[in-house]
Amino acid sequence: MIKSLRISFFFCTFAHQIDSNIIFLSMKQIIIKTPVSVCSFDELDNDLRILVEKAKAMTQNAYCPYSHFHVGAAALLENGQIVAGSNQENAAYPSGLCAERTALFAANANYPHTPVVALAIACYANGHFSKNIISPCGACRQVMLETEHRFAKPMKIVLYGEDMCYIFDSAADLLPLNFVAENLQA
Ligand SMILES: [Zn+2]
Repeated sequence: MIKSLRISFFFCTFAHQIDSNIIFLSMKQIIIKTPVSVCSFDELDNDLRILVEKAKAMTQNAYCPYSHFHVGAAALLENGQIVAGSNQENAAYPSGLCAERTALFAANANYPHTPVVALAIACYANGHFSKNIISPCGACRQVMLETEHRFAKPMKIVLYGEDMCYIFDSAADLLPLNFVAENLQA
């Protein structure tokens, strides 16, 4: 059974400044909710199961001699192609790149006019696939968001864990209060 979760982010908005003293006139709290569907691997639809299998296979291509943390990502394009990637580390640590970005950059470089409709992510460490989902880093979330905006089409994100999978209907759900091209005109 696919269950829905809501992840909440809490923010406080405050402050007017009067005579150099900060006075909290109208503090209020808002709640930003992120819908996420939770299910087992077997409950995924066929396309997403194939995509997750590809992401799992790609973990074995990771170059991760420093972290030993193998991550695979597989992007499903609107034309049915799957473009995959794995993390590629470097002795100069910041020169490496996460699996999600190697997959998305390869997809966008080779198919610059074809939207990415789904991205699956899997992790393998200590001799087994992770039981719980692995969540992408902030930089990868930003790149997912850019890909989504570039094609004006939501991209489903599937985070694989042996015990459960999380499915987000849009990359934007993983990055609330995000920064996109429109913000440059602010
Ligand atoms: Zn990342």
